[in-house]
Amino acid sequence: MTTVSPERARTFDSLNPATGEVVGTYPVHDAEAVEAAIARAAEAARWWAALGWAERRRRLIAFKSLLMRNATRVARKIRDETGKPMGDAVLEVIMAVTHTDWAARNAEKVLRRRRVSSGLVAFNMAATVEYHPLGVVGVIGPWNYPVFTPVGSYVYALAAGNAVVFKPSELTPGVGVLCAELFAEVVPEQPVLQVVTGLGETGAALAGSPGVAKIAFTGSTATAKRVMKACAENLTPLVAECGGKDALIVDSDADVRDAAEAAVWGAMSNAGQTCVGVERVYVLDSVYDRFVNELKSLTAQVRPGEAEDAPYGPITMPQQVDIIRRHIDDALDRGGRAVVGGRESVREPFVDPVVLVDVPEDSAAVREETFGPTITVTRVASLDEALEKANSSSYGLGSTVFSGSARRAMDLARRLRTGMTAINSVISFAMIPALPFGGVGASGFGRIHGPDGLREFSRAKAISRRRFAIPGMKPTSFTRTQQELDRLVKFATLLHGRSRR
Ligand code: NDP
Repeated sequence: MTTVSPERARTFDSLNPATGEVVGTYPVHDAEAVEAAIARAAEAARWWAALGWAERRRRLIAFKSLLMRNATRVARKIRDETGKPMGDAVLEVIMAVTHTDWAARNAEKVLRRRRVSSGLVAFNMAATVEYHPLGVVGVIGPWNYPVFTPVGSYVYALAAGNAVVFKPSELTPGVGVLCAELFAEVVPEQPVLQVVTGLGETGAALAGSPGVAKIAFTGSTATAKRVMKACAENLTPLVAECGGKDALIVDSDADVRDAAEAAVWGAMSNAGQTCVGVERVYVLDSVYDRFVNELKSLTAQVRPGEAEDAPYGPITMPQQVDIIRRHIDDALDRGGRAVVGGRESVREPFVDPVVLVDVPEDSAAVREETFGPTITVTRVASLDEALEKANSSSYGLGSTVFSGSARRAMDLARRLRTGMTAINSVISFAMIPALPFGGVGASGFGRIHGPDGLREFSRAKAISRRRFAIPGMKPTSFTRTQQELDRLVKFATLLHGRSRR
């Protein structure tokens, strides 16, 4: 929710989505300003990389402590710009702090030089691999988790030794600016983390700049395609964290109450504006009625509002309300039933919980990302049917399984075509910093978080060093003789020619 000032459009306002009140005014950074930030970042990147592992670790741990001590202040800013309740905003800061701590403490272990086996054919070689920073990483973030989501990219990029230019969503510029100010308190020497504010064009300038070594984009699939086009111009690599249409499967021996609680939280918290929020549920026939009754009783008291302790707040982006309305209308017009809420649940800027059943699988409410506090619940005859339906989505971000059998749940988790699966819990993978986070298909590619997230912002450097010469064995030289080659063939046949395991 933003307005650009008409006179020369040099600033824009950030508004509280619940009240419409202006909560901040920020510059619109144009392409020139973005280039200037990237140029400053290039120098900062050299300085930051030269600091070394121990000092970067110290600074990042100092940053996480400062962030934690300022949790209420940052949460207040999140609440001002997104409308989410204070409790959820604080939880988001705690998750960001946890990731910062992990990235700081593990970067060296994951990325430092290590020896690898050189193999029998190259036994006279020493082989090492190490991960070098890329330089300047551009981070483009969404508004729904304005601290947790970009931190998942930028602290991993920083821990790997890069400088970052971060473009927050135009809906949440203040949160981005505040975090960068806190970072500058622990790294005052150089602009290692800079924020550029503005609308889509500011992000486009960042993605299209030849000065950035990689773009970490989090947002919708549609925008990711535009960003990818801009990146293609300079062959800039991209990690794309996009939307989802996550499914939850309830097995016949699952704890039905637990599963329903997880479904309600996964679908309704943050007004359903969660990339890994639960949007579809597939329930085994034998527990379907009990599950739907539990959903009804759990949502009975859940009403969004403006209060600090409301279960959830408004729809942050006004245009999203039309999408939510269209999905509910389409589901109901095509034979679906609302067992909780209905068309009347949309009362802008708030949307009450909506639980839809008997919705055709090809309707918008089942196929497209709704990003609202709605959920579809579908009865299935078998786990195979649940799996097939869950997997028939162009998206593949997260998924959830509730089952009484750890073995069956693990098997289902592996067969779900998503980047992450939570078992008997919801969204739990996002709270574990050591686990990679990212999707498949329309949900994007590349990984943030964990060792993969650190490597995502590094380039592998391979070094092979000859330790001693092998007399009569120089296969990569024009002085090589036929006898040498014959000896090599004999040796390789001995090693690899038999089909024994
Ligand atoms: P958008 O795609 O609308 O925007 C994402 C970011 O891209 C914003 O900062 C936006 O700036 C910027 N942007 C817009 N146009 C361009 C452009 N042409 N070039 C470069 N940058 C541009 O997404 P939302 O902010 O609405 O976020 C919601 C989406 O994000 C949902 O689909 C959600 O599922 C997904 N998401 C994915 C996550 C994941 O980890 N996989 C996590 C969180 C959200 P501006 O806002 O100024 O237009």
